[in-house]
Amino acid sequence: MAAPETHRLTRQIVIAMLAGIVLGVTLNQLGTGPWLQTFLVDGLLYVIGSVFVSALKMMVVPLVFVSLVVGVTALSDLRVLGRIGAKTLALYLATTAVAVTIALTLAGLVGPGHGFDAGKTEASFGGKEAPPLTQVLIDMVPTNPVAAMAEGDMLQIIVFALLFGVAVTMSGARGKHVLNLFNDLDAVIMHMVEWIMRLAPYGVFALITRTFASQGLDILLPLAAYFLTLTAALAIQLFVTYPLLLRLLASHNPVTSLKKIRDPAAFAFSTASSGATIPVTLHTVEYKMGVKNSVASFSIPLGATINMDGTAMMQGVATVFIANVYGIDLSLTDYLLVVLTATLASIGTAAIPAVGLVTLTMVLGQVGLPVEGIALIIGVDRLLDMMRTTVNVAGDCAVSCIVAKSEHAFDQAVFDDPDAGSVEAATRHPIPASPAA
Ligand code: ASP
Repeated sequence: MAAPETHRLTRQIVIAMLAGIVLGVTLNQLGTGPWLQTFLVDGLLYVIGSVFVSALKMMVVPLVFVSLVVGVTALSDLRVLGRIGAKTLALYLATTAVAVTIALTLAGLVGPGHGFDAGKTEASFGGKEAPPLTQVLIDMVPTNPVAAMAEGDMLQIIVFALLFGVAVTMSGARGKHVLNLFNDLDAVIMHMVEWIMRLAPYGVFALITRTFASQGLDILLPLAAYFLTLTAALAIQLFVTYPLLLRLLASHNPVTSLKKIRDPAAFAFSTASSGATIPVTLHTVEYKMGVKNSVASFSIPLGATINMDGTAMMQGVATVFIANVYGIDLSLTDYLLVVLTATLASIGTAAIPAVGLVTLTMVLGQVGLPVEGIALIIGVDRLLDMMRTTVNVAGDCAVSCIVAKSEHAFDQAVFDDPDAGSVEAATRHPIPASPAA
């Protein structure tokens, strides 16, 4: 039976991912040879993948700024904004702490790294310094909002957009003119996002094929225990923790929730960047899951920046792995320190590929483990980065839904409609200016 027109894109993205894995692994196993390597892997696939990621990134700053201004103006007063902010932050921190605890428990049971021969890995780790938390807090206030936008500094953009939105609300008739303009801009920018989503099957295929062609699965073998423990922990978070939380705190049907996040999950997996996935995450929670813009526009960019449950899980499992390899016993206090530091480190982790390894230095340093241990796991990090980014993004969607539900900023009819927000349907019926305001 043919797929309904409204699900065709999601289906195509999934097929593109699978085809990319098969072709990539095949190319890796057979060897590409200079011609295929130059013209296909480093040529065509590289160009298509990079253009796709650049196009996504191109939308992030305008979308977050405009959408957040619209979202803030929809809130009746500043107390509501404060309440939403506090709830969102608390849930982001709590879900991350739960995530690390699951990861540590599983790693404690499996014990990855026992008997691992560290001499086999030749990679080294440069050990870049992660910024201290105090600096992260100071840097939140932009000295120049234009520079913040040019740099794509998400926390600074959020702070400026919040203040700007509050000022729009307080500026009477003049503010109303500005708001109308922003409402229209929001719809136009979302339209552009939908163009990019249409290109996803090609972009995803190119990114995944290239990754698997460059990185064979055989490097996983020596690190199978680490890899599988982390994969299992990530799967628990994605398929058990979030659906359970959504069921308990937002009365969501877990199967529907998981189905609805397929698009951002596929984007996160193929780009390994929650930052580049923001446009798709925002589109999904608003137009498919029914979260009003007043909550989504704030929680999604903030979550992409500070909420990294998958990254924190990697740091938990990696800490246990490195401790086992070096034969160092971790005490209960060490485990608690890891929960605390990994939760905080996820705030300071930039939403781009591989940064989780940099902030892992903070966690290892806290419990006195050698930072060089990171070199042991660097080889398998790309694939794990793709998986943990998927969990990072899924966590943002879950918290956004829970906060929206508790704030009565949630449209159940949209959530229940399997065709809601599909790009195909939007072409026939242009999306409303602002589903929330
Ligand atoms: N790639 C991750 C993200 O963008 C961050 C990391 O763990 O390296 O969410």
